Amino acid sequence: MPRPNRFRDVLRVGPVQVGTYYDGRGRDKHTAACTAPRCGFSADYHSRSAAELAARTHRCTA
Ligand SMILES: [Zn+2]
Repeated sequence: MPRPNRFRDVLRVGPVQVGTYYDGRGRDKHTAACTAPRCGFSADYHSRSAAELAARTHRCTA
Protein backbone atom coordinates (compact mmCIF):
# COMPACT_ATOMS: atom_id res chain seq x y z
CA MET A 1 0.00 0.00 0.00
CA PRO A 2 1.24 3.53 -0.60
CA ARG A 3 2.77 5.09 2.43
CA PRO A 4 1.20 8.31 3.62
CA ASN A 5 3.80 11.02 3.33
CA ARG A 6 2.45 13.33 5.99
CA PHE A 7 3.12 11.31 9.09
CA ARG A 8 3.43 13.23 12.27
CA ASP A 9 3.90 12.26 15.88
CA VAL A 10 5.86 9.22 14.84
CA LEU A 11 6.55 6.85 17.68
CA ARG A 12 8.75 3.80 17.50
CA VAL A 13 8.00 0.76 19.62
CA GLY A 14 10.63 -1.88 18.96
CA PRO A 15 10.46 -2.49 15.21
CA VAL A 16 7.01 -0.97 14.89
CA GLN A 17 6.37 2.62 13.92
CA VAL A 18 3.16 4.37 14.87
CA GLY A 19 2.23 7.49 12.97
CA THR A 20 -0.72 9.80 12.71
CA TYR A 21 -1.73 11.35 9.43
CA TYR A 22 -4.53 13.36 7.94
CA ASP A 23 -6.53 11.32 5.47
CA GLY A 24 -7.54 14.30 3.34
CA ARG A 25 -11.19 13.93 4.19
CA GLY A 26 -11.27 15.70 7.50
CA ARG A 27 -10.08 12.90 9.74
CA ASP A 28 -6.90 11.76 11.35
CA LYS A 29 -5.84 8.19 10.89
CA HIS A 30 -3.41 6.18 12.91
CA THR A 31 -1.18 3.55 11.44
CA ALA A 32 1.07 0.94 12.99
CA ALA A 33 3.64 -0.51 10.63
CA CYS A 34 6.43 -2.96 11.36
CA THR A 35 9.81 -2.21 9.81
CA ALA A 36 11.30 -5.64 10.34
CA PRO A 37 12.37 -7.44 7.16
CA ARG A 38 9.83 -10.00 5.97
CA CYS A 39 7.26 -9.10 8.59
CA GLY A 40 5.10 -6.72 6.62
CA PHE A 41 2.66 -5.94 9.40
CA SER A 42 0.76 -2.75 8.74
CA ALA A 43 -2.67 -1.67 9.92
CA ASP A 44 -4.80 1.41 10.31
CA TYR A 45 -6.65 2.28 13.48
CA HIS A 46 -9.31 4.78 14.36
CA SER A 47 -7.59 5.91 17.51
CA ARG A 48 -4.06 6.66 18.52
CA SER A 49 -4.33 4.48 21.61
CA ALA A 50 -5.42 1.50 19.55
CA ALA A 51 -2.47 1.93 17.19
CA GLU A 52 -0.04 2.22 20.09
CA LEU A 53 -1.52 -0.83 21.77
CA ALA A 54 -1.14 -2.82 18.56
CA ALA A 55 2.49 -1.71 18.30
CA ARG A 56 3.23 -2.73 21.86
CA THR A 57 1.63 -6.14 21.50
CA HIS A 58 2.94 -6.90 18.02
CA ARG A 59 5.01 -10.02 17.55
CA CYS A 60 6.81 -10.48 14.29
CA THR A 61 5.72 -13.50 12.35
CA ALA A 62 8.96 -13.82 10.41
ZN1 LIG B 1 6.82 -7.31 12.87
